[in-house]
Amino acid sequence: MALIVQKFGGTSVGNMDRIKNVAKRVARTFSEGNEVVVVLSAMSGETNRLVGLCHEASEFPIGREYDLVISTGEQVTIGLLAIVLKEMGYNAKSLLGHQVPIVTDSQFASARIESIDGQKMKEELSKGTILVVAGFQGVDPLGNITTLGRGGSDTTAVAIAAALKADLCEIYTDVEGVYTTDPNVCQEARKLERVSYDEMLEMASLGAKVLQTRSVEFAKKYEVPVMVRSSFNDAAGTLVCKEDEEMEKVVVSGITYNKNEAKISVLRVPDRPGIAAKLFRPLTEAGINVDMIVQNISQDAHTDLTFTVSKEDFKRGLKIVQETASQIEAKDVVGDPNIAKISIVGAGMRSHAGVASQMFDVMAREGINIQMISTSEIKVSCVVDVKYTELAVRVLHEAFGLGKSEVVEEKQG
Ligand code: ADP
Ligand code: ASP
Ligand code: MG
Repeated sequence: MALIVQKFGGTSVGNMDRIKNVAKRVARTFSEGNEVVVVLSAMSGETNRLVGLCHEASEFPIGREYDLVISTGEQVTIGLLAIVLKEMGYNAKSLLGHQVPIVTDSQFASARIESIDGQKMKEELSKGTILVVAGFQGVDPLGNITTLGRGGSDTTAVAIAAALKADLCEIYTDVEGVYTTDPNVCQEARKLERVSYDEMLEMASLGAKVLQTRSVEFAKKYEVPVMVRSSFNDAAGTLVCKEDEEMEKVVVSGITYNKNEAKISVLRVPDRPGIAAKLFRPLTEAGINVDMIVQNISQDAHTDLTFTVSKEDFKRGLKIVQETASQIEAKDVVGDPNIAKISIVGAGMRSHAGVASQMFDVMAREGINIQMISTSEIKVSCVVDVKYTELAVRVLHEAFGLGKSEVVEEKQG
């Protein structure tokens, strides 16, 4: 007997027929003798709808009530699945975040899980109950409902799997696993049999939304084996697990894109110690995460500073930076939301030189101008005009030999 956490995303619970399908899959796993905890998202489109309503109510709605509203989609799906399972004769119980409880900090819209009490869940499971838990939500120490950031149900699932020391966490979604790039953008994308926690962490944080980044952080920290697979068929999925020697041989294992960032440039900033701290502190205090930062070489004691924030934070961030810029006597602030970050990821980059320059060559050949660059041990990212996103993904995918045809050829050769 194993303890299995099964998470189903928005498309997988998008209507009543699909919820009934999920019930059948859960029932099958339970009937095979396993203990099962199910984690659900809201029906596809529902969280977007709720976010839209909040933005109709206010220009800057994020706060206690925002999370209260946008967490409601999950309440509906877990209730419905539990009803269907009971109708089928199973003992099922739905649980909201605060009923588990899943305790988080108080950072509304992007709360972090601090603790999960697995004791009550374990007792219920041992009595033969199938637990159906709302993804995406938690409760802060003051009793406020919080949400974990978009795509947060993945994190709920992996965190519960870690807390219960589950044998496996299955992420059921609308594609068959983790691919070399988004299969909805590049037809040549190839499903990976296995991917290391580190590679998945980079791919997720660089835009491969198939898993939320924090879910991979949890998986890595607690060594939870995660299987990403389709909720529509029984095809083998992708196992996210510890790195091994085979994985290190692959130089580039994936290409990602992220259209969800915007660029802010502060022009002619006086170049003296403490300026960067002055500029970024107010953003940190407002809970705005800054991603890539580029500072130009100083000329006549002035410099330009460019950085990216998420599109969600763009308007708020721009306003804050404009205020600080006038205090530090910078000349101007310019914002550009029409950008995309294209990245190549691979564990083998640690031991192979020249990967970044190959990427720049490919972009140059296609006439794609690179606006910003950042690198880490196992990734290279470039910011480009958003209109080049799909083109850049496809040409890089081909140039690094990731397509289906390349692999077939390799095997034949
Ligand atoms: P769910 O609602 O099940 O959580 P998501 O929409 O959050 O599903 O994530 C699945 C989507 O992630 C896929 O439909 C696909 O378009 C996208 N995606 C982006 N990059 C990748 C990748 N490398 N591998 C698989 N899917 C990817
Ligand atoms: N329903 C939430 C969202 O759309 C959480 C999730 O789907 O994982 O972001
Ligand atoms: Mg998701």
